[in-house]
Amino acid sequence: MRILLVEDDPLLGDGIRAGLSQDGYVVDWVTSGESASHALASENFDLLVLDLGLPHKSGLEVLAELRQRDDPLPVLILTARDTVADRVRGLDEGADDYLTKPFDLEELYARVRALLRRSAGRGDPCITHGDLVLDPRTHQVTLKGKPVELPQGEYRLLELLLQAQGRVLTRAHIEQSLYGWTRDVESNTIEVFVHHLRKKFGRELIRTVRGVGYAIDRISESN
Ligand code: CA
Repeated sequence: MRILLVEDDPLLGDGIRAGLSQDGYVVDWVTSGESASHALASENFDLLVLDLGLPHKSGLEVLAELRQRDDPLPVLILTARDTVADRVRGLDEGADDYLTKPFDLEELYARVRALLRRSAGRGDPCITHGDLVLDPRTHQVTLKGKPVELPQGEYRLLELLLQAQGRVLTRAHIEQSLYGWTRDVESNTIEVFVHHLRKKFGRELIRTVRGVGYAIDRISESN
């Protein structure tokens, strides 16, 4: 899951980025509204954490642009304590949730998880696919009730494909989601992860769409 963080306070931005990265998210951090708009127009993200009080171009302007082009990206806004009006405007402009500064980072993580869950259309925090269950809160994966240990890269790819069950994700989308703007990715990294995941969960779990990318197909409840 790839998150765009927009925060001009260096200490807070650094803390949020470190914390979310540790939780397994790929975090791209920008410090201005202009950079945020540019990133949002050209890259894929799964969530936007947006400070409203930015120099020059405000967070509200960034948000308004996003919704004007009908981008459904989940947005969590960060506001200062005394700006009720901004918070209300943010929600009216299409933000999905907000946090008032100062906040506890644990609460931020919980809200991020909730937003990602809601955007995937699920009330249950666990993602299931037949006998396979993935819990984004604990990063635990089980198959037929037995825990399966996964290195971080394999875990992230599995979570990404499971979140998008029924949709084909392009190679570019997967690489961006897993690595953000880090460009030193080996060209066969994704194939290697897919290979290992198939060994652990069965060949049929991940479908290769030649020349496009990968998908985990939905299975009906009765299976
Ligand atoms: Ca600020």
